Amino acid sequence: MKNVSDCIIRFKGLSNGEHSFRFEIGDAFFQLFEGSEIEHGNLIIEVLLDKQSSCMQITINITGTVALDCDRCLDNLILPASTNGELAVRFGKEEDSNPADDLLVLDPSEGEIDLSQYIYDSICVSLPLQRIHPEGQCNPEMMKKLQNFMVN
Ligand SMILES: [Zn+2]
Repeated sequence: MKNVSDCIIRFKGLSNGEHSFRFEIGDAFFQLFEGSEIEHGNLIIEVLLDKQSSCMQITINITGTVALDCDRCLDNLILPASTNGELAVRFGKEEDSNPADDLLVLDPSEGEIDLSQYIYDSICVSLPLQRIHPEGQCNPEMMKKLQNFMVN
């Protein structure tokens, strides 16, 4: 099991009110997700947590770059990634949770929340559907090979 503690926020013992966290994620983070299209990345995650007695509001701001394969030439393509989201958490029993509302129910005895999956999903959703280099910037050798392949 790899260490994912970077994206875990321990809220146990935090006083009510706002708390901010900041962490960086890199290649190791993306390796946690099997079949991840993103192999490399360098992002800053800023989290603002507003804790109340019965709930928490978590605001997440993600900025940085990710690298994946260009859909056209398969070369490395570096894309800026920037997104933000909000997560509402209510303390209670899991069976009280209603999938219809955008609310995460967390047993208060857990004491921490792992944001890894949420962050990963947010980054993936923020990427453009077409992952290709700007016109003329694809790997020329690969394009030549591809063209030959098409002709033959
Ligand atoms: Zn390309």
